[in-house]
Amino acid sequence: MIEATGLTKRYGSKVAVHDLTFNVKPGRVTGFLGPNGAGKSTTMRMILGLDRPTSGEVRIDGKRYHELKHPLRTVGALLDAKWVHPNRSARTHLLWMAKSNGIPAKRVDEVLGLVGLEEVARRRAGGFSLGMSQRLGIAAALLGDPQILLFDEPVNGLDPEGIHWIRRFMQGLAEKGRTVFVSSHLLSEMALTAQELVVIGRGELIAQCSTQQFVDNAGSQAVLVRSPGAAQLQQALGSRGMKVRSTVGDALVIDDVTTEQVGELAAQHGIVLHELTAQRGSLEDAFIQLTGNAVEYQTGAVALADSGVAR
Ligand code: ADP
Ligand code: MG
Repeated sequence: MIEATGLTKRYGSKVAVHDLTFNVKPGRVTGFLGPNGAGKSTTMRMILGLDRPTSGEVRIDGKRYHELKHPLRTVGALLDAKWVHPNRSARTHLLWMAKSNGIPAKRVDEVLGLVGLEEVARRRAGGFSLGMSQRLGIAAALLGDPQILLFDEPVNGLDPEGIHWIRRFMQGLAEKGRTVFVSSHLLSEMALTAQELVVIGRGELIAQCSTQQFVDNAGSQAVLVRSPGAAQLQQALGSRGMKVRSTVGDALVIDDVTTEQVGELAAQHGIVLHELTAQRGSLEDAFIQLTGNAVEYQTGAVALADSGVAR
C-alpha cells in the first residue's frame, strides 16, 4: 500500500506536484495518468525517496522510504531502463545489484527467467533493444521480490508486442496480490491496463476512481456505427431525436448517445450492424482537455470548469 498525503514538490518557483493525496492498493494495477509534465515522474521519485517533498509525505506500508529496513525487498521500480552500464551483461548487472543488496545470486537467474531474458543474459546490455532493456529494468525491479512495484511509462516507444507483454506482466503481478503502480500519458493505454486510476494534471489530483468510472465520465457520448442499413438506421435515430453528426458511406457518427441505445434501436428495427463503437478519439481529447485546463472534479462526475478562455 502506498499512501500520499498532501504531497507537494517545488523546483524554485515551479510547482511540479501540488497537494496530492491518493493511495495505491494491492491486488490490482493502478494507473497513474496525466499528460507530459503533469508531475508523474516527480511523484514516483518522491515515493522512492529519490526526491524530497517540499511538504506533505508519502508512506509505503506505513513507513517513509528511508525508514524501510529492506527497501529493495519492499518496493521495486522501473524508472529509466537505460541506466544500466552499456558494457555489462544483463546478468552481471543484476548480480552486482543483488550483491550490494544482500540478495542471493540464484534470484538473478529466477528474475531473468521471469522476464524471458535467459537467452541473452550474457550479452552486453548496451546492445539491447528498447524492449529488452525494459525487460531488464523489470527484472531489476523484481530482484528483491518486492510486494510493491512502480513502473514509470514502461511502454513508451515499445512495439505492440512489447506493450502487450508488459501489460500482461503487470496484470499478472497484480493478480498475485502485489501493489502495481504504473504511469502513462495515454488514457487509451491505461484503459487496457489498469483497473484503478489516479489522474493528475499540472501537478494536481483530478480523480482517483476505477478506470471504468473515469472513462464513463470523461468520454463524450459519440458513437460510431457501420451498417448496410445506414440510411434506415439514420431515419430511426432521427425519429427518436438522436443527432447524426456525420455519414460516410455505411458509417454514421452519432452524438450524445450510448452504444446500448444505438444497438437496441437497431435491433428493434431489425437492422444489421457491422460495427458499434464508443469513440476513442474523443475520449482522449476529453482527457487532454480535462487534465490540461482548469478543472473541477465532483464525485461521480467530471466537470470542466469555466477557465474563462473562449473555446
Ligand atoms: P511527468 O513525468 O508527468 O511528465 P515530471 O514529474 O517529469 O512530469 O515533471 C513535472 C514538472 O516539473 C514539469 O514541468 C517539469 O519540467 C518539472 N521538473 C521536473 N523535474 C525538475 C527538476 N529537477 N528541476 C526543475 N523542474 C523540474
Ligand atoms: Mg515522466
